Amino acid sequence: MKPRPAAAPTVGFVSLGCPKALVDSERILTQLRAEGYGIVPRYEEADLVVVNTCGFIDSAVDESLGAIGEALRENGKVVVTGCLGAKGEVVRKAHPAVLAVTGPHDTEAVMTAVHAHLPKPHDPFTDLVPPQGVKLTPRHYAYLKISEGCNHRCTFCIIPSMRGDLVSRPVGEVLQEAENLARAGVQELLVISQDTSAYGVDVKYRTGFWKGRPVKTRMADLVQALSSLGVWVRLHYVYPYPHVDDVVPLMAGGKLLPYLDVPFQHASPRILKLMKRPASAEDNLARIRAWREICPDITIRSTFIAGFPGETEAEFAELLAFLEEAQLDRVGCFAYSPVEGAAANALPDAVPAEEREDRRRRFMAVQARISARRLQRFVGRELEVLVDKVDGNAAVARGPGDAPEIDGRVLVDRARWLKAGQLARVRITRADEHDLFAESLLQ
Ligand code: SF4
Repeated sequence: MKPRPAAAPTVGFVSLGCPKALVDSERILTQLRAEGYGIVPRYEEADLVVVNTCGFIDSAVDESLGAIGEALRENGKVVVTGCLGAKGEVVRKAHPAVLAVTGPHDTEAVMTAVHAHLPKPHDPFTDLVPPQGVKLTPRHYAYLKISEGCNHRCTFCIIPSMRGDLVSRPVGEVLQEAENLARAGVQELLVISQDTSAYGVDVKYRTGFWKGRPVKTRMADLVQALSSLGVWVRLHYVYPYPHVDDVVPLMAGGKLLPYLDVPFQHASPRILKLMKRPASAEDNLARIRAWREICPDITIRSTFIAGFPGETEAEFAELLAFLEEAQLDRVGCFAYSPVEGAAANALPDAVPAEEREDRRRRFMAVQARISARRLQRFVGRELEVLVDKVDGNAAVARGPGDAPEIDGRVLVDRARWLKAGQLARVRITRADEHDLFAESLLQ
């Protein structure tokens, strides 16, 4: 067996309670070992102690509280889990110095607390993946997935039936991953999920830990913490709920990219209702106006569906009018396509395929005009861009308003000295419908 590296952090483990608690202990110990922590039998050898408690009867509560007290006295760094952990207030009242308290069957939360207070070791000989994980994106940007599944039931979508309801990743784990990525040289984090604004709803916005500090499992708290990493942070799949307004001031203050990807999908209240869209009752135009007042430079991206079952010509016209009024910066539009298993397929008055495609074309023609006009505001201005690729004297880069793959680009001239993955200042010289053209300000 390969010996554990001398510098590996060590964890002491106290396991109390019934066989179910024992299984939990085994899981946590297995995970700790798999990640390279050393398990030690004495308090004085441990960098941190996990106490798995029992809270079934009063005597078990007393025994558990006694064990926590002993671990605190003998070691000082204690994470509490198990049945008594479910009654967090009892533990915290008796022992306010504990680092974290989690409930039973929650290996992930225990690991998050351990990572927060005793960072995970990385052994280049045994670890299959680098500390920042394996990334399929170029080295300078990375997707940061914050949750899986979705609590909504949009009638055109089958994701909830495939992936289930929303499950938010522990906030400490997400932040640790983001920090690892930033340390590994990633310049841009793209926050993704099925419904970013719902982050934490499933765990009632539980408090997690990052660098020993409490952080709530909530979008605004997460992005506030991410903004301290000193890299670009871009938000995708945000629904227009009122609490989204809380993150726009961070954008105005330069802490977060002034960019919101908000999939509106339609503008007609009747169609939005048929689609069962989240936040369909919100006044989206008022919301957009408010965001622009706080952050005039914000780029708003959205996607729409043309030719949804039952969409009349008048409702489609309502969608075009919304587009004119909203003056969105970046827009994608799909002709409705019946996905097998989607509830919307059973709706009456399907729009014929060629009509759906025709509406999509008309929609995109309106948007091309709007997009061209919106991009003009950048001409003559200096912009910070992230360089994706350099080819001779030309570079392909992106500005704060351009997500990779889906938005436009900034095509930079006189760029011989630039390198992929570098942030650079450029002056915008002209714009077309989708892209900006620029010259590098570095000589
Ligand atoms: S389209 Fe609707 S149901 Fe599907 S993932 Fe998005 S919010 Fe959830």
